[in-house]
Amino acid sequence: MSELQQEKVIDGFNLVVKAMKINKITEIYGVAGIPVTDLMRLAQENGIKYYGFRHETSAGFAAASSGYLQQWPGVCMTVSAPGFLNGMVALANATTNGFPMILISGSSNRAIVDLKQGDYEELDQMNSATPYAKAAYRINRVEDIGIGIARAIRTSLSGRPGGVYLDLPAALLPAVMPYESGLASLITVTDPAPAQFPSEHAVKQAIDLLRTAKRPIVVIGKGAAYARVEHDLKTFIEDASLPFLPMSMAKGLLPDLHPLSAATARSLVLGKADVVLLIGARLNWLLSHGKPPLWAETAKIIQLEIDSVEIDSNRRIDVPVVGDVASTMKLILKEFAKGTFKAPKEWLDVISIKKKENAEKMASRLENRTVPMNFFTALSTVNKVMQTFPDACLVSEGANTLDVGRNLIDIKKPRHRLDSGTWGTMGIGMGYAIAAAVTQQSPVVALEGDSAFGFSGMDVETICRYELPVTIIVMNNGGIYRGDDINRFNKGDPGVTTLMASARYDVMMEAFGGAGYNATTPDELETQLNKAITSGKPSLINVLIDIHAGTESGHLKKLNTTQGK
Ligand code: ADP
Ligand code: MG
Repeated sequence: MSELQQEKVIDGFNLVVKAMKINKITEIYGVAGIPVTDLMRLAQENGIKYYGFRHETSAGFAAASSGYLQQWPGVCMTVSAPGFLNGMVALANATTNGFPMILISGSSNRAIVDLKQGDYEELDQMNSATPYAKAAYRINRVEDIGIGIARAIRTSLSGRPGGVYLDLPAALLPAVMPYESGLASLITVTDPAPAQFPSEHAVKQAIDLLRTAKRPIVVIGKGAAYARVEHDLKTFIEDASLPFLPMSMAKGLLPDLHPLSAATARSLVLGKADVVLLIGARLNWLLSHGKPPLWAETAKIIQLEIDSVEIDSNRRIDVPVVGDVASTMKLILKEFAKGTFKAPKEWLDVISIKKKENAEKMASRLENRTVPMNFFTALSTVNKVMQTFPDACLVSEGANTLDVGRNLIDIKKPRHRLDSGTWGTMGIGMGYAIAAAVTQQSPVVALEGDSAFGFSGMDVETICRYELPVTIIVMNNGGIYRGDDINRFNKGDPGVTTLMASARYDVMMEAFGGAGYNATTPDELETQLNKAITSGKPSLINVLIDIHAGTESGHLKKLNTTQGK
């Protein structure tokens, strides 16, 4: 043997795993297959937890929510072309929501792919990913694995976080290089999301403007939840008696039942506010683009935001405060201490009166305990039980389930609610729930419309296989939106929004060894949900909801294009 042949080498498989290990990637979510199966095995051998899913999109959603919950990119690993494209939905969703995530896919033979000669699972994956990802990279040489992984991690976390695609051509993995230089090529990423302080001038302007406000309101978004600013936010809001509105995933930064929460007077405060302080929230469709009629044309806006391009995106921002919100809140508190102020009492009184009025309206709505249940009956019952499990994370998707549940279910702790988010994505349910269970060591409740559940339902098998403490609630009204649609043209065929109202989703859970429950009354639902969460075992409650309950398109009725009307 020559000296060269005897030299100790390391291959791409080992370099990828080592690069992930030294960069605190502790879990991988994915679906095994060519060419990444052995990469997954090697990761397991090296102490990285691997969670194998039934569909790449679900695995990708798990990686995305893991990234959001841990401020560190979640990793999804897939096979080539079709598996990669399934993962792309989740990657694009992560980018849209600002969650740090890395999708790593194996890809087929470059030479064949580029000449379109018809390889197994042929696709130019890197270029396909580019428009939907924060960035897309391909590692072509084994000596670049360290750089490639470091680059993916840093890109996903820096500035506004997002989804990064990393392409690993099949030929890269078995390729070798000398052992010592291989190890030396790896990079431990340091400080990928460095503190970004805003200018002191901007902070002073923000406080000066708030000081003049007669009707201030603070809108808190999931950027603030991601940045974990609950402590400073609470101090500021309470010391200045500022009313606040949480966006859905920012619920729990301050508890929903906090006396300064204006959530139940939302239209009033947005319509009447003269100064709005946006903290890590975009003026997108979820906030009616900051425009009338919901918003006052004359309101002055202060925006705390990491991405300067977001400023003036939908309407004029009077005081942009560009920086990371954790650093910004420190400066805000410092400036505030120089001369504190309180929101005017008359304004707080106006809000209180409206809150009381709306609470009374809601209470009368909730008095109706009809069977079969409607969304209000069932979801107020879910709320009642969830208040006794304040550590439980809630995942929610659907139309009416999502919309009604957002208002009815109070969240007490930060980052304890994950939902369809910025894209209004259906299918996040099982993926988000699995990652929440894996990373938070707390019980998880996935509150699902029957339609929404269908997008990721097969991953109940994953929940059972890994024995995760997830309780799924399927609000079964037998349809997308409602279950009473009829086919007006071919009698006998189902209408376009119809699903099976008689479906027993609980039996599906039992098929994999989990606990199934069928709730026909609020009392049954209460008992079963208590039991399911307490058990810590995979459980599914099929909740019988009136097929006539719910509205088409939920709260988004105005976006629905209606034929002939
Ligand atoms: P929501 O849907 O809750 O309203 P969005 O996702 O629309 O929230 O907005 C979150 C905003 O927060 C984004 O514009 C994002 O750039 C911003 N953001 C994310 N991380 C930070 C951070 N660390 N500091 C400041 N802003 C941040
Ligand atoms: Mg439904």
